[in-house]
Amino acid sequence: MLLRHTTDQITEREALTINPAKTCQPIGAMYAALGIHGCLPHSHGSQGCCSYHRSALTRHYREPVMAATSSFTEGSSVFGGQANLLQAVKTIFAVYEPDIISVHTTCLSETIGDDVNQILAKAREEGLVPTGKYLMYCNTPSYVGSHVTGYSNQVAAMVKYFSTATGKKKNQVNIICGWVEPSDMREIKRIATEMQSKIVLFPDTSDVLDAPMTGKHEFYPKGGVTIPELTSTGDSKFTLALGSYGTEDAAINLENKCKVKFDVLDLPIGISATDRFVFALSRAAGVKVPSSITDERGRLVDIITDMHKYLFQKRVALYGDPDTLIPLAEFLVDLDMKPVYIISGTPGKHFESQINHALKGKVPEVKVKNGERADMYLLHQWIKQESVDLLIGNTYGKYIARDENIPFLRLGFPTLDRVGHSYQPMVGYAGATNTLIRILNALMDKIDRESPEEKFELVM
Ligand code: SF4
Repeated sequence: MLLRHTTDQITEREALTINPAKTCQPIGAMYAALGIHGCLPHSHGSQGCCSYHRSALTRHYREPVMAATSSFTEGSSVFGGQANLLQAVKTIFAVYEPDIISVHTTCLSETIGDDVNQILAKAREEGLVPTGKYLMYCNTPSYVGSHVTGYSNQVAAMVKYFSTATGKKKNQVNIICGWVEPSDMREIKRIATEMQSKIVLFPDTSDVLDAPMTGKHEFYPKGGVTIPELTSTGDSKFTLALGSYGTEDAAINLENKCKVKFDVLDLPIGISATDRFVFALSRAAGVKVPSSITDERGRLVDIITDMHKYLFQKRVALYGDPDTLIPLAEFLVDLDMKPVYIISGTPGKHFESQINHALKGKVPEVKVKNGERADMYLLHQWIKQESVDLLIGNTYGKYIARDENIPFLRLGFPTLDRVGHSYQPMVGYAGATNTLIRILNALMDKIDRESPEEKFELVM
């Protein structure tokens, strides 16, 4: 009983969050920055923040995450971090030789009110930026929003700093990718290649945070969207923004700056959201959907048909990031399951209506909450009041799953106690097949574990 103090008596809380279902903004900014080739993220704040952000990413991706810090001391905390940042820019370009330094702020530098734009302009004026190298920055005050907000701010900054309209359109489609795993980004590129459509995907952490072991340490692995590719997004014929919380701001910036029209879609998680993505890409790129893609869909539908009896009306609790939860809830409903409790620590005033739309009116008893008070404690209280058949979310749910004896599917950031999440996609039809198989295995393992001997079946 690790969570023995959780009661089923719910008291309305105004100023207390217990086990938040989110983490801090700069983690998202750092993750997105790693999706640019040759980029060194830089944390403008104290060493402690940067260490935490790096370790959170390293633990999830099991890869060394490189990032620099302005290393604020008491002096910089009082007088501002300009001197530290200027020195950092000079040292980083001289010693670590990135193509680009992407600076994000922290609670401390935001509270001081450091004008990072002015500091970076000064760095350029003083000749601290070598020719052909770049600086960019975004604000990530962690006392508002969540890691998803930080991701969104970083992606929007990519457009602000690089997208350029030359007046000569290119036959390519931008895909701005919400926060998913490197394997998902690779899967989106595979689907685009299969459909013979030319895309620019950004950010792109595949081959950065899932780089192969070669025996040689690469400070800047081969993956990531390149600066010329990012620049060319201003000449693309259309943009698909996947996941409104992580990408809509960037898509709006791109339209305002370069007149590239866009559609905001859900991340292609599950069958319906993948259908919408495939059709949208087919339309935007002017290509047909090949039979290889429809075959993948068909195989997914076949498994659903075969195993439907294990899924029907099963109650599910979900928590995590909104861009994942919305299409995932829709997928569960498509499987005839019932997502009854849904929690996200990321704020957003449309979240509840987006979830209700995804549920298509099929789960009238659903309880939804997001924002600061939407925490793991509340989710546990709901479960104590009426339990569920399956729990889906990041590693932090393992305590609830153990205490309540609920099958548990690890999905989302951070996953700290299992492997596979950064190698097996959850997007596209192949990703939905992976997720479905994992759901079925979790449910069927429990049936095997708990069935009496006379009902212990060899064939299921
Ligand atoms: S919440 Fe603020 S102070 Fe804490 S690690 Fe994140 S940026 Fe640093």
